Amino acid sequence: MNLLVTGGAGFIGSNLIRHVIDQPEITKLVNLDCLTYAGHLANLDGIHGVHPRYVFEQVDLRDKDEVLRVIRQHDITHVMHLAAESHVDRSITGPGDFITTNINGTFHLLEACRAHWLNPASSIQHRASRFLHVSTDEVFGSLGETGFFTETTPYAPNSPYSASKAASDMLVRSYIHTYGLPAVITNCSNNYGPYQFPEKLIPVVIQSILSRKSIPIYGDGMNVRDWLYVGDHCQALWTVLTTGKPGETYNIGGGNELANLPLVQQICDLIDEMQPDLGGHSRDLITFVPDRPGHDRRYAIDASKIQRELGWTPAHNFASGLRETVSWYLGKQDWIEAVKPR
Ligand code: NAD
Repeated sequence: MNLLVTGGAGFIGSNLIRHVIDQPEITKLVNLDCLTYAGHLANLDGIHGVHPRYVFEQVDLRDKDEVLRVIRQHDITHVMHLAAESHVDRSITGPGDFITTNINGTFHLLEACRAHWLNPASSIQHRASRFLHVSTDEVFGSLGETGFFTETTPYAPNSPYSASKAASDMLVRSYIHTYGLPAVITNCSNNYGPYQFPEKLIPVVIQSILSRKSIPIYGDGMNVRDWLYVGDHCQALWTVLTTGKPGETYNIGGGNELANLPLVQQICDLIDEMQPDLGGHSRDLITFVPDRPGHDRRYAIDASKIQRELGWTPAHNFASGLRETVSWYLGKQDWIEAVKPR
């Protein structure tokens, strides 16, 4: 397996590389990442420039020729496609990069795989190849008080981010049906864990508490997300890559529904317990701010298909995963300094 991971310097991508790099099937692991504000080689400490099977290609997915060059030069047999613009708030203030990276970039990668795998002159037997497209549950839109997203829930994206991811999912689907590209799609719920860029909810809350700044919460704080530990997501992605059925889609979720306000309160209480000398109750820092436009109310994943068909279940429970995550951030203030937005 010559595995290409796109977006390997980001949050999930770097956790994924750490998770899979020593799998015996892998001959070479190529990390393609252009290092946007969200991508940092500091996330790959101990691997980048050190691991004998690891190769880094600083390439922008928007550069079609370079994407094809990487696929050909490394004779890529398997792709795990994670590179994307991923922050919903940024997609509201500036949607352009979301269109060019998430849609055009995915198109370039699909075209390169089609040229390399489905070309009769190629050395690759395309039946053994796989293209895993990593997507989000946000493509399904918002749920009411009840119900779950399944693999057959109709798409109803509400932000430029989720619309761009939905468009990329549809492109992958079309390559499966039109060209027979051996691709699989996963739609996952919110991830948390180490190396998450400090503009997303959990690291933002931790940093606000440590610097005794107010903790902004959108609207009434009752928007519900289904939280999954990033290591469990990585294991699910490896399971789908190696045992998933081409042409299928799989939902991935932790079965951990939680509204933002109680989540933030739990983080406050954990830090008050772990760092009692910070002074005062961290919950007092919570401040409600006007809701984000188009803010989806509730996401919840039905992950029974991947459990039933591929035998994957999350290994972490939320209480222990959150405790591990908070203590990781408390011990990694040098990492925060190295990557934080300037
Ligand atoms: P991230 O923003 O932390 O990382 C994205 C990475 O992609 C960065 O390293 C960045 O440099 C790279 N990148 C961006 N544009 C690029 C381009 N044009 N060319 C090459 N590289 C580029 O994102 P993440 O949270 O790790 O998410 C990874 C994937 O998982 C995304 O596709 C996202 O939609 C999906 N996803 C994320 C979550 C979540 O909770 N974070 C949940 C479900 C699905």
